[in-house]
Formats: sequence, structure tokens, C-alpha cells
Amino acid sequence: MKQPTKLATAPVAWGIAAGAALASPSTASGPGGSPRRPPIVVLDPGHGGSNPGATGATGLHEKQLSLTLATAVADRLRTRGIAVELTRTTDRTLTLRQRVALADRVRADLFVSIHANASPTRTQRGYETYVLTPRGIDVDGRALRSDTTTPRPGVDPDVALVLDDVERGASQWEAADLAARMQRALRDRRGGDGDRGVRQDAQHVLLGATMPAVLVEVGFIDHPIEGRQLAEPAVQAQLVDAIAEAITDQLAD
Ligand SMILES: [Zn+2]
Repeated sequence: MKQPTKLATAPVAWGIAAGAALASPSTASGPGGSPRRPPIVVLDPGHGGSNPGATGATGLHEKQLSLTLATAVADRLRTRGIAVELTRTTDRTLTLRQRVALADRVRADLFVSIHANASPTRTQRGYETYVLTPRGIDVDGRALRSDTTTPRPGVDPDVALVLDDVERGASQWEAADLAARMQRALRDRRGGDGDRGVRQDAQHVLLGATMPAVLVEVGFIDHPIEGRQLAEPAVQAQLVDAIAEAITDQLAD
């Protein structure tokens, strides 16, 4: 289910968001450059706290499923030497801005938001992955530019704007790549019938983040059959396998 997004007006509070525990800019991966430190993945379990997301056929809430999956994916990735930060590890409310601020603060190499879907008629099923558009490059986000510049101490502001655009362009390609991997990995485990493809739309915007970012909808939690499957540990294990594999392969390339 989509995160409700109200993104258009408020400036990002960089002074607060970027204030603590910043990695040195020289350790960040740039376009064409390779990271000089172990990769960092930010996993974002959708919803949480007062925002339960979609409710499933079994009474399972999307916020519970997303946290269960993200926690297991994190464990898997850590055993492979990949550093992982979770935007939440408990049932708590987070704004989209807080989620993105974490990803920016730790200078994540990838941002993966995990959700489950719902449909008005409870008849849809399948999995899909959204390419999260940074600041709305393909939508009408140009006007937001002045609010959402990545902090670049000591860099000329005009140059910084150009760097932002270059990074976001590269990130879009990588995000599309990751989204395609995610769909392939899910298809291998969940079957081709449920493949709803890679998507991009104006609802899925990440203000501020410059790293490749995707949002995976692992299935329809309110579908009478698929919703029950999503509550099964064996099916959850398939989803964890798929998400972890896509991320691992993406980082290895
Ligand atoms: Zn959702």
C-alpha cells in the first residue's frame, strides 16, 4: 500500500537531519566511483505505529509483515558482510521524511522500502517494484530543487546543483536495475503469474535521497488466497530470499 505522501511544500530540515554521525563525504560512493567502505543498505519497513497500512485477510497488518520481512532480510544481508540500517525495528510511526533522512545520514548505497498491497475489490494479486524517483525528476519536482539540495560543505552551490542532478540520474539507472532484479528474484520463487512488473509514478518520490531507491510491494495482503499465503512462514521465507538476493546481486555488480 502506498505511503501517503505530501511532499510538495515543506523544506527538508537538513540542519537537523544531517547534524549527527555523518560519514565523511570522501567515503561516499559517487557516480562512476566505487565505495571505499562496506556497502550500506537501508531497509525501510513500510508504515508502523499509528499507520498500520493495509489489513490482510488473516488480520495481519501490512506494518507487521513489512517489519517481519525487513528484519529477516537484514539478518540475511549482515551474514553476507553487508551493513544494514533499518528505519524502524519496532512498531513505531515514522514520516517519509524521517525515513529518507536516515538513508541520507548514513549515506546508504541502496534504499529498499518493503510494503504489501491492497485493492478496493480484494481481487488483485501479485508483486511489483517501484523505482522511487528522487525529488521527482520525471514528475513536476523541478520546482522543489531549492528545498532539497544535498549538503556539500565547501562546494560551490551551482556546482552542487549539477552534482545533485548527475547523482540522481545515475541513481535512477541503478534503481531501475535493482527493481528488475527484485522482480526476477520474486518471479523465481512466487511464479510468473504474479509479476506486475517494474513501475514508476509520481506518487513514489523520495525527497533528498540521492542513492538508488526502490519500493517493493510483495503481494496483496487483502486477497483471499494471496493474503493468507503472505502470513505463512514458508512464503515469507521466499520473499526474504528474493529481496536479499536482489540486493546482494546488485551490490556485487
Ligand atoms: Zn504500504
